[in-house]
Amino acid sequence: MRVLWALLFVLAGLAAAPPGTPAVAREPHSAVGEVEAVTADALSEYWTGAFRRLGRVYVGPAEVVWFERPTFTACGIASTASYCRIDRTIYFGYDLLEHSLATIGDFAAATVVAHEWGHEVQDELGLFRWAVVHRYWIGKELQADCYAGMFARHAAAMGLLEEGDLEEGAAMLASLGDDERMKRSSPQAHGTPKERVAWFRRGYQTGSLKVCKSVYSVLYHKP
Ligand SMILES: [Zn+2]
Repeated sequence: MRVLWALLFVLAGLAAAPPGTPAVAREPHSAVGEVEAVTADALSEYWTGAFRRLGRVYVGPAEVVWFERPTFTACGIASTASYCRIDRTIYFGYDLLEHSLATIGDFAAATVVAHEWGHEVQDELGLFRWAVVHRYWIGKELQADCYAGMFARHAAAMGLLEEGDLEEGAAMLASLGDDERMKRSSPQAHGTPKERVAWFRRGYQTGSLKVCKSVYSVLYHKP
């Protein structure tokens, strides 16, 4: 995706600045900020369309906040990428995104953004709170991975992905999967690397909200 995504960054920059505007010195974290900005725009557009097809209006997150170090939120301290239901805000730490960008690639970082966005989508669909109440911790995470896969499918259909991008997204989610020490019942559990990749791919292959929701029947035998 590098070339096309990089081109998008340029276009985004051009769109933001009137012609003839001198280049502004790059701020720290600008690469991550650019991935987030491009991905956030594409995500808003994608989910707006997906909700419209459901006959609904997509609202989107109230805010996207970046932090350098663990930070206080309405939901407690955020130390990594997270979605807070109380303030409807997505929180990202620069560390994780920069690391994924540097070690795996830009679509790895985009997939982290798409996953957190997925939690906000769950919230609008009433599934976030439902999953928390039932302690479907892993289901909630794998559904967000599946949503990230749905977004990857959209990005591919728009011609935004390059060879290897899908693998970057999958590798990122695999790297964030649980090891054997993680208890399946823990609120911190996200699913094994294998599960995370499988649901990401399922979302990519089907582009179906219904298929993504089926994670709950697979894991908990719930509709
Ligand atoms: Zn998550």
